[in-house]
Amino acid sequence: MDLYEHQARALFEEHGIVVPRAEVADSPLKARESARRLGGRVVVKAQVKTGGRGKAGGVRLAEDPAAAELTARQILGMDIKGHTVREVMLAQPVDIESEFFVGYVLDRAAGRFLAIASAEGGTEIEEVAASRPEAVARVHIDPARGVTSAKAAEIAEAAGLPPQAVDVLVRLWEVLTREDAVLVEVNPLVRTVQGQLVALDGKVTLDDNARFRQARWGEQKSAHDDPLEAAAAAKGLNYVKLDGEVGIIGNGAGLVMSTLDVVAGCGARPANFLDIGGGASAQIMADGLSVVLSDPDVRSVLVNVFGGITACDTVAEGIVRALDTVRLTKPLVVRLDGNNAARGRAVLDAHAHPMVRQATTMDGAARRAAELANST
Ligand code: GDP
Ligand code: MN
Repeated sequence: MDLYEHQARALFEEHGIVVPRAEVADSPLKARESARRLGGRVVVKAQVKTGGRGKAGGVRLAEDPAAAELTARQILGMDIKGHTVREVMLAQPVDIESEFFVGYVLDRAAGRFLAIASAEGGTEIEEVAASRPEAVARVHIDPARGVTSAKAAEIAEAAGLPPQAVDVLVRLWEVLTREDAVLVEVNPLVRTVQGQLVALDGKVTLDDNARFRQARWGEQKSAHDDPLEAAAAAKGLNYVKLDGEVGIIGNGAGLVMSTLDVVAGCGARPANFLDIGGGASAQIMADGLSVVLSDPDVRSVLVNVFGGITACDTVAEGIVRALDTVRLTKPLVVRLDGNNAARGRAVLDAHAHPMVRQATTMDGAARRAAELANST
């Protein structure tokens, strides 16, 4: 789970990393009051789980509380890369001397963590990394040893960061390990004209698999997160929203992932990942369909099931049951194969819903679903 900047900021502060004083507001009036409490002059920052807010006009300086109210009015409701701004963070401005980049990310292929650091942080970091990769230091970290002062000094040295960065790097590693994060990033970490290092922006991705041992997970989960993902999670479904138009439901993560690839290969874009798992009941199928159908971006739905533990007739019954409760406004392509496939197909044939089509192969089903999505 990705955190909002203000949540990342709170974690940094707890672990002794210096951050600007800040408050969160969900209305222009509250923004004005916050600005007053913070001393008047503030930076107004859109809270969305995507980068590049500065370039999109979502990070702006306001000279006084009245200006903060006006700026918040302009930023609240803005769309930044498909994310609607529902809250702003008001932060005390900092006088920047230089901007650095520091972060840790899990390098699964290497079985290690990777420290990424640069003396040229800020909003142009992607361009810097692309055009002058030597300006970005990459240092692997043995997870069993972690980031000691010596390791932090090695990272700071490799990136050309000032000596105070060693302490920040050690504390940032504590954030990663204690909070069970798979990514922590500070861009920019700034040196103020007064010579202090301050974390001005933060990105943290928590490890979903560690949720059971993180007491705070519940409060960090925001009501503003994707409503479909929240609805799916409430029903215990394994659902991830994507950018396309073909809704995808399948059993088993591997099959669903291949289905995404095959649909993409047919010239359409998957709208989601939804794995109903092995041994899926009719109820799970019905829940899954209702979530996928309520996505306004979906133009056709592909159900791809290979019956192993899950019998295809159970899946077919689930589809039929779902069609009793959910009005099918989008074409549904179903491919059933494996355990009890013939019975499953017969169940759907008998139901004879005008919006439901069957296909016998995965390729054929994907092609049909892609055509339907692209033609409606
Ligand atoms: P991002 O664009 O989503 O990465 O948002 P950031 O929080 O990183 O802000 C973008 C840029 O705004 C930073 O790189 C800074 O240059 C600038 N910025 C943010 N806060 C302040 C501040 O308090 N003072 C000054 N002078 N610039 C700031
Ligand atoms: Mn940033």
